[in-house]
Amino acid sequence: MNEYCPHCGQKLIGETNNGPGINYALTTILLFLNILWYYPIFGLSYLDNSIFYFLAASVTVVILLQPVLMRLSRSIYLYILLAFQE
Ligand SMILES: [Zn+2]
Repeated sequence: MNEYCPHCGQKLIGETNNGPGINYALTTILLFLNILWYYPIFGLSYLDNSIFYFLAASVTVVILLQPVLMRLSRSIYLYILLAFQE
């Protein structure tokens, strides 16, 4: 497949971007790492609903951090990509 259309010059091959994939990994890791600050402050027990409060708090933190995580994941993806282009 041509990179550019021979007739009109339209770019045919899209830019690769797996930033969202890295973002998914970062978000999932952070979702569970939130237990590091939540457990010492609020405590967790299987005897009550505290696990659901933890999940709600963790999801809220992860959503609020998305603007940072999206930029960070794109940067991490570019570092990985550029390493292969040496
Ligand atoms: Zn064309």
